[in-house]
Amino acid sequence: MTLICAVIAADTPAAAEAMKVEALSAGAEAFEVRLDAFAEIPDDFSFLPTEKPVIATLRSELDEERREIFAKALTSGATYVDIESDSVLRGVFPKSRVICSYHDFTKTPAAWDILRIFRDLSSSGVPKAAFMVRGPADLLEIWKAAVVLKQSGDPFILIGMGAAGEVTRIRAADIGSMISYCAVRPEFASAPGQITVAEAARLGDDPIITAITGWPLEHTRSPQMHNAAFRAAGIRGRYVRIPSTAEELPLLPEVLRCYRIRGANVTIPHKQTVMPLLSEVLPEAKSAGAVNTILVDPSGRLTGTNTDIAGISATIADLRITPSNARVLVAGAGGAARAAVSCLTAAGAAVSVTNRTMEKARTLAAEFGATAVPRDELSAGYDLIINATPAGMSGFSQDIPVPVSILTPDTAVFDMVYEPEMTPLLAAAGDAGVRAAVCGKAMLIAQAAASFTLWTGVEADAAAMTAAFGGSP
Ligand code: NAP
Repeated sequence: MTLICAVIAADTPAAAEAMKVEALSAGAEAFEVRLDAFAEIPDDFSFLPTEKPVIATLRSELDEERREIFAKALTSGATYVDIESDSVLRGVFPKSRVICSYHDFTKTPAAWDILRIFRDLSSSGVPKAAFMVRGPADLLEIWKAAVVLKQSGDPFILIGMGAAGEVTRIRAADIGSMISYCAVRPEFASAPGQITVAEAARLGDDPIITAITGWPLEHTRSPQMHNAAFRAAGIRGRYVRIPSTAEELPLLPEVLRCYRIRGANVTIPHKQTVMPLLSEVLPEAKSAGAVNTILVDPSGRLTGTNTDIAGISATIADLRITPSNARVLVAGAGGAARAAVSCLTAAGAAVSVTNRTMEKARTLAAEFGATAVPRDELSAGYDLIINATPAGMSGFSQDIPVPVSILTPDTAVFDMVYEPEMTPLLAAAGDAGVRAAVCGKAMLIAQAAASFTLWTGVEADAAAMTAAFGGSP
């Protein structure tokens, strides 16, 4: 059984006591008291909680001082003291009262090396090691090591740090870790990827996990949207980041199976390259030429689909456009444009494609029976104009991807860019008095809601997802 261990890092005994009370009511089952957080180490150690297992931790160079403080902590009710593997205090206290710890803040070594580290640590106490997780390869090394460590039946603590390591914390029970370190509040997190006590208690030992992969993933807002949907639906579920380079993407299926991840979103730059790694790709994803959602069935079989199409269709419906017979212009010839062209042509729309590189527009148009039109030959008369280029997105060119002269009061405009929500195209559309204009936020939320429903069988609360769009995960 994995204990939810609240990290108490406060600068006074009174603040530590208040934090302990808050943690207990949130579901803490153990405490790590960070003595190094105190402004001054108190003489009286009665602040140490005694109702649950307690680890006293004090990172400092002053070893003689530490020796006395640790001894006092043990006689004042601490269950364990945390002694680093390279400390001169290693071996000073009884093995049964020590957590012997090792941290690597840059990488995760190979499983055999992790096991070597654990063999060494276990000679001095309960072995604890935390490794920085960079992607799928590191997650698999931790998993392989955990399988061997569990066989001994002896207690151990194994943690993957960083955003990519969050899944090791959520699956701490599967890993066999004795403890999962949690923050009392998000702002008190003492290590990257640490979740809160309340969230760990809400999730329990066997939550649903869903994920997103791509590279880089720092800016994705999907975790906050999906986690809000889990909470709104009352589902014990957590959506985690698994950043993956192109080189490590082939390891993703094994990561999904080992960590029992029910489904994953796939984003730039892996939407196409993930396809050969899957057991099956559904027709809509084949037609769009991209997978943005993977479903993992209980046997570990991976199916790829594309919910961007659902997002595009929902946005077009919101604009009160019936695709059959609608005249639509799509600017762009990349993945998002392809998804729009494939679903609109299938629905009977007359689609034109324009693009900076016209050769790509011609190839795309030819594949779906659309018409390629160079920018300088475009004229008014479209019911709908879709921007499927990054023009207007923060950090990208702020050009308007179509001539302003084709923005007329009969036209609706759908700019797939959602960051910012007001783009130069949408501003020009407003000036031109177009019938309706929307950014890509509704599409993003609709595709996320469609993925959520595929994974959980429960309709996503779009309002909760929308509210979380600007919030924290
Ligand atoms: P992509 O595959 O890289 O394709 C980008 C397309 O945009 C290419 O056709 C490219 O033209 C064109 N382009 C790039 N920079 C341009 C510029 N400065 N001016 C004019 N055209 C430019 O990207 P994608 O995945 O299709 O995504 C395109 C946009 O859609 C992104 O902004 C993305 O954020 C947005 N998107 C939104 C959602 C949503 O849910 N709202 C979902 C998916 C995508 P060349 O062929 O000449 O390179």
